[in-house]
Amino acid sequence: MSKVDRARMQGLMKREEQRFRDAHKRSKELFERATKSLLGGVPMSWMVEWPGTFPVFMESAVAARVTDVDGNAYVDLCLGDTGAMTGHAPSGSTGVIAEQLRRGITTMLPSEDAVWVGEELQRRFGLPYWNFTLTATDANRFAIRIARQITGRPKILVYNYCYHGTVDETFATIGDGRTITRKGNVGPPVPVEVTTVVVEFNDAEALARALEPGDVACVLAEPALTNIGIVLPEPDYHDALRELTRKTGTILIIDETHTICTGPGGATRAWGLDPDMFTIGKPIGSGIPSGTYGVSEEVARRMFDSTDADYYDVGGIGGTLAGNALSMAAIRATLENVLTEEAFARMIPLAERWTDGVHAAIERNGLPWEVQRLGARAEYWFTPTPPRNGGEAAAADDRELAAFTHLYALNRGVLLTPFHNAALMSPSTTQEDVDLHSEVFEEMTSELVGG
Ligand code: PMP
Repeated sequence: MSKVDRARMQGLMKREEQRFRDAHKRSKELFERATKSLLGGVPMSWMVEWPGTFPVFMESAVAARVTDVDGNAYVDLCLGDTGAMTGHAPSGSTGVIAEQLRRGITTMLPSEDAVWVGEELQRRFGLPYWNFTLTATDANRFAIRIARQITGRPKILVYNYCYHGTVDETFATIGDGRTITRKGNVGPPVPVEVTTVVVEFNDAEALARALEPGDVACVLAEPALTNIGIVLPEPDYHDALRELTRKTGTILIIDETHTICTGPGGATRAWGLDPDMFTIGKPIGSGIPSGTYGVSEEVARRMFDSTDADYYDVGGIGGTLAGNALSMAAIRATLENVLTEEAFARMIPLAERWTDGVHAAIERNGLPWEVQRLGARAEYWFTPTPPRNGGEAAAADDRELAAFTHLYALNRGVLLTPFHNAALMSPSTTQEDVDLHSEVFEEMTSELVGG
């Protein structure tokens, strides 16, 4: 198998950076201007993580296409890191959203849409009761608070190299067999070992040992890891997770913010998971800030049995704008018209096609790489076999190589999400979009190995 020649890649990278600068003159001007008023020159810090020597400024984003201020058009396989999994400005919800904007945005009153949405979430994901937030981060924060309240236990358990939003307790990794703060963690309120236990994904024995002392309120889990690359669960892992959490009285929270790519009912429905709580955000409102958490019958009963808890005011499980009429209308339209069963039936074969294209290029060019898929999302690894947990996945991370593959794609009209080597399909993605990526990936891998 051929290895990547770093010197060769660095030479190609210089050429790609020049090509990028030549094609993005207006973006460069805007970035230089922005450095004088925006922190780091961007509205959100991670926007500088894109490959290239400055960020591309967007002009418009419609369906699976983005156009930048220099007039370059892209097939968008990043889709707002799942926030735009619906496709950009999807016609199935923009009309409803525009109409709701004229009829009132936020009122402190429930709307009929909320009832429809509660019923639909119940149907899709199985949990009986739902409440709303504006982000997935908040859904996770609220779920954790509830779990602590009803169990009276202090800690939470997460997987090594998980990501669940900016939730303080989750910024923890394993170091020398102990919980340590995640590298670069900004201003943690308390040391993470006070709040958090970390285990590797797919290690049922480690999970059993960690839950045994009985001080863990909840396990917060993605059904498959997606934020350190796609790491799939091994065949019996979810059974063990459910059994061990039940046995130890630990609440199981499943976060489907990314794994909704598995199907219309997420991995929860596809794999028959049976969580006590469920969280999701990002795409469910077609990009209008929306998040939600669902609770089981038993969790709901224990919440309201807990009479010392003030869920309305100081409980930290609310937000003035949460559950607003605009967000509820957007979720309803998204679930009713955009992220439908039929849409998934189109998106998943497209992800298979993308995977086949990447796989064929890897084989043809003899690279020791692999590609993994979860429903409508797929991702390549710079390792010959896919990692089985977060620790292995973090060790396989290759920033330099990823920056090269991403910039190569961007320069040829394909956007990949900056933190992942992943592609996500939307209901408006086409076979031609996927084939463009396959061609570009073949050209890139062939150049890389000197073909
Ligand atoms: N949960 C998961 C699994 C995520 O991947 C993310 C964001 N990448 C979040 C929660 C947080 O989403 P948000 O930043 O929109 O709150």
